[in-house]
Amino acid sequence: MPDRPNPFRELPPTAGLPLGWKDLLGAAVTRTPPDFARDAARFLGVDDLLLTCSGTAALVVILTTLRRFSARRQVVVPAYTCPLVAIAVAHCGLDPVLCDLAPGSLDLDPAALRRLCGADTLAVVPTHLAGRVADVATAAAIARAAGAWVIEDAAQAFGARTAAGIVGTDGDFGLFSLAVGKGLTLFEGGLLHVREPALRAEMRRTAQTLLPAAPWREALRALQLAGYAAAYRPGLLPFAYGAGVRRSLRRGDPVAAAGDAFSRDIPLHRVGAWRQRVGRSAIRRLGTFLDAAAERAHRRVERLRAVTGLHVFGDGPGGRGVWPFLLVRMPDRAARDRALAVLWPAGLGVSRLFVHALPGYGFLRGLVPQEAVPNAASLADTTLTIGNSPWMSEQDFAAICGRLERAL
Ligand SMILES: *Cc1c(COP(=O)(O)O)cnc(C)c1O
Repeated sequence: MPDRPNPFRELPPTAGLPLGWKDLLGAAVTRTPPDFARDAARFLGVDDLLLTCSGTAALVVILTTLRRFSARRQVVVPAYTCPLVAIAVAHCGLDPVLCDLAPGSLDLDPAALRRLCGADTLAVVPTHLAGRVADVATAAAIARAAGAWVIEDAAQAFGARTAAGIVGTDGDFGLFSLAVGKGLTLFEGGLLHVREPALRAEMRRTAQTLLPAAPWREALRALQLAGYAAAYRPGLLPFAYGAGVRRSLRRGDPVAAAGDAFSRDIPLHRVGAWRQRVGRSAIRRLGTFLDAAAERAHRRVERLRAVTGLHVFGDGPGGRGVWPFLLVRMPDRAARDRALAVLWPAGLGVSRLFVHALPGYGFLRGLVPQEAVPNAASLADTTLTIGNSPWMSEQDFAAICGRLERAL
């Protein structure tokens, strides 16, 4: 296989829901009330959701509110997660505490979590990484025994289900992301679920003061959303996405290539009416889109599992996660790097989830403890992602499988 099978075509690394001109124009001319959160709540089957300008902003709203109720200062987060989670904790004047993952798993290690939870633990953040359904019950039991809140990070899992219910609703709080690359997108956006109705009012009050109207910022986001709608197609992604990835890889900067390089500045503002109407229009297609993605993923997971040496992360009993991409673990770092060397620049939608465990990011130095989190580090070193976009043909997928087999 040449470096790039087709220089005029590029697959996205995640299965984003494409937006059409009808979504954008309809949002400009209709007079439907811009209450996207209500449509999102109806989609999930929950009473109420609060719309924020990002998943990170939802976390800031939660933590800012909890700080008013408690003098506890520590927030336990997975050692392998989005760096924005640690940035949000620090932004609120709280201390991120890193919990390693269980060996070979995407769940927090219960033994480590038990050791870390104590009288200063404000909250624990079990996280549904890669759209996979995490074991929230175990983490929640440990957190609650220590008197801590449970914040379920479902940023990558909007629409996922557990055996008994809805991912994002088992914690005291649940957050979802509507950022680019996470399925349904407003370019940037977030949703917050609060289980206790009494706390809902508190969160709403916090959001009202913390997220002011910001017309210029909103105008920029609206342009970015329109740009996404226009450029999110295989013929334009080489320019809108792939060129930047390949430039970063040539520079030897995988953090930039994976889109992991975050600023410590967290934009906090309200989401405007037009973007909400775009969301209302697009969410009508989301159910069908997610079902097709799951069906495609299940077939491809089976194919990959037939390859000795590959592990593909799936869901526990009864879990029905969402499938933005397949998260594949290889036997060791060398094999993973051999595969990535060819596949990451190839325009086939192969990428990485988070490049490092949190202590590995230079820009988090001084913000997260520099300590050994071997299971999280091993996950970062041995995994890659295969995008699950509907544009990935069987031929594309076969080419990726062939490359993985050779790398083994
Ligand atoms: C993306 C992400 C976030 C942050 O969401 P934004 O909407 O990008 O602010 C938080 N946690 C996880 C696990 C994520 O993947």
